[in-house]
Amino acid sequence: MTQTPQPVRGTQSLIGEEADRFHAVVAAFDRVRRLYGFKRVEMPVIEPTAVFARTMGETTDVVSKEMYSFEDRSGDSITLRPEFTAGICRAYLSEGWQRFAPLKVATHGPAFRYERPQKGRFRQFHQLDAEVIGSGEPAADVELLAFGAQLLEELGISGVRLKLNTLGDAASRDAWRAQLVEHFSAHRAELSEDSQARLDKNPLRILDSKDPRDRPFADSAPPMVLSAEAEDFFGQVRSGLDAAGVAYEIAPHLVRGLDYYRHTAFEFVTDQLGAQGTVIAGGRYDGLIEQLGGPHTPAVGWAAGIERLAMLIDVPLSERPLLTVIPDEPEFEAEAVRVTAVLRAAGLATDLAFRGNAKRRFELAKKNGSIARVVIRSGYSGLAERRGIHVRVNQPDTSDRQNDIRAAVLSALSAEFTVITFEPNESGHSPDAVLQPKASS
Ligand code: ATP
Ligand code: MG
Repeated sequence: MTQTPQPVRGTQSLIGEEADRFHAVVAAFDRVRRLYGFKRVEMPVIEPTAVFARTMGETTDVVSKEMYSFEDRSGDSITLRPEFTAGICRAYLSEGWQRFAPLKVATHGPAFRYERPQKGRFRQFHQLDAEVIGSGEPAADVELLAFGAQLLEELGISGVRLKLNTLGDAASRDAWRAQLVEHFSAHRAELSEDSQARLDKNPLRILDSKDPRDRPFADSAPPMVLSAEAEDFFGQVRSGLDAAGVAYEIAPHLVRGLDYYRHTAFEFVTDQLGAQGTVIAGGRYDGLIEQLGGPHTPAVGWAAGIERLAMLIDVPLSERPLLTVIPDEPEFEAEAVRVTAVLRAAGLATDLAFRGNAKRRFELAKKNGSIARVVIRSGYSGLAERRGIHVRVNQPDTSDRQNDIRAAVLSALSAEFTVITFEPNESGHSPDAVLQPKASS
């Protein structure tokens, strides 16, 4: 026997409620994106490896151990995107998107990281992404944060806190880095192995280490001393958030590990997902575009994990057809196909019960959750050449919509058929209407 291939570890195939949840998150994102005037962009899944290696920094977890990189047939090093930001900045330069600056863009799709799969952590996961490129104004940070906050609100997700910090400008950040190295070096031997390595390569990252051995030293680390300019920038972001009605808390130890981050850094965090509690994360990355060989270009953005948001929302209404068309006898199948086509063309979501005997077809109309069934029958006295149409709701709770649905069906069918209506009859035996193809009438 041939073995069935299994899914790649850390990937998911979704159906039913899980798929509905995923789609509800994307749909809300797309609505809010428009409200904020962010242009939709579509990005490649594959990029030259240099796009990420140059921007995210060789020392970050993502670049040092999480990237899916491979050589293609012409020997070029290609990477499956682990995030959107670097690719969007690449396009900003290579596709001449500078002409749109300040550019507000949004996109979503899969991203790939070789991580240990667990709740809320996958190897193929999906992100929502929003960026403002070519704007150094604190107002851009405020817009993005308000966008994130409104998205969470529209999704009905409560209990998420916005943690906000500033990493200062390049000068204040470099001075702070030196202070941190001094502070952590004094406790080097007591730090976790990971943080000992970070001390040499990326000391800021020790501050958000989750290892309990690091916490006491991270918590007692000296805070950053901001330059007057950085202080002023942060002040403007905060007053903008107050004006926009976005609540936040200052988190002095919140850092983004990547070197290109400046000024604002933030995370929307929940405690409902265990260790995977960050649902939206981002910040200002004024240094990134220069690392791709472009001119100095201030920018700010965030990314959100779709799977994590999907776990936090209420069960969305599942998609279901409005109607199921049921041919009562096999000889009406062609007619049923035609009726179905007409209903769909009129914008009514319609399923056609095409399998099994009449009983099976009625069962399907229940199983697919459709609200009403349209049954095609014949055998009415004096109407031998015509088909009778019965429209009946399947669900007791929608029975008061019976007449509306009936009217919508008959009106749609009148596009293609001559429809002769009957008053609905208590016994349910007479048809709601009979149809005659227009051509032959
Ligand atoms: P974490 O600390 O959880 O690893 P991160 O700092 O690596 O997060 P970012 O690079 O900031 O994450 O990505 C933005 C968002 O994408 C995260 O806040 C999270 O919601 C989501 N995300 C990141 N990695 C994964 C993953 N492997 N599986 C699912 N979602 C993820
Ligand atoms: Mg990570």
